[in-house]
Amino acid sequence: DLEVTDLCVRFAGLAAPALDVPELKVSAGEMLAVVGPSGSGKSTLVNMLTGLDTPARGAILWGRTNIGNLSEAERDHWRGRNVGLVPQDFHLFPGLSAINNVLLPARLARIASRTTVDRAHDLLQAVGLMRPNQPINTMSRGEMQRVAIARALLRQPAIVVADEPTASLDADNGAAVSSLLILLARQTGSTLIVVTHDEALIRLMPRHLVLRNGRIFADRVAEGVLA
Ligand code: ATP
Ligand code: MG
Repeated sequence: DLEVTDLCVRFAGLAAPALDVPELKVSAGEMLAVVGPSGSGKSTLVNMLTGLDTPARGAILWGRTNIGNLSEAERDHWRGRNVGLVPQDFHLFPGLSAINNVLLPARLARIASRTTVDRAHDLLQAVGLMRPNQPINTMSRGEMQRVAIARALLRQPAIVVADEPTASLDADNGAAVSSLLILLARQTGSTLIVVTHDEALIRLMPRHLVLRNGRIFADRVAEGVLA
């Protein structure tokens, strides 16, 4: 479970805090959409929750680990084990094949066993990519989005975070990628946090956290969502 208390983030030059969250709880395996206007603090929140950045004040507890108290090296290690991030701009290596992109973080962490390689191939198939050796620089954006999703899920992370995963896709591809993400996160029992403006994706998510000016404006459980 995630438990945030008294979180406050300030940036130099801004009078008001970029983020001011007295309390936020997310249960393990829950699926949450973070929505709100541009500049409302969505990326800042997600950066704090995934340990990409540390807050000036407040506690971010994932289970028993307060990630705000970890050293940078400890946080990197924690992230590698626990967080699968699907970045907005993919962060893929254009000269490498799909499979090598999926495996790269595992190889850098020296955990790319035979089982890991098999899982990488299975994941590429699961996201509908049948040519594992195709180089990234010959792929469409929709295909790259799928590679980024496969890479995020390789280590069966407890937390999957996707920043605007459908932003550059047409409606059909967006819908396909959304359901894939939800399906794969459910298969691994991961907590799924999605930052999105996509109404179709928001409708698939059972809980909506609405940010305005760095504060939680609304925290709604959507009726009738099965995800
Ligand atoms: P978008 O939908 O445009 O991605 P967002 O909701 O993700 O917006 P954030 O990126 O979290 O918004 O930014 C929240 C506020 O904090 C904004 O006013 C932004 O200008 C400010 N901000 C974010 N990062 C920094 C930084 N490193 N230094 C100074 N100000 C920052
Ligand atoms: Mg953002």
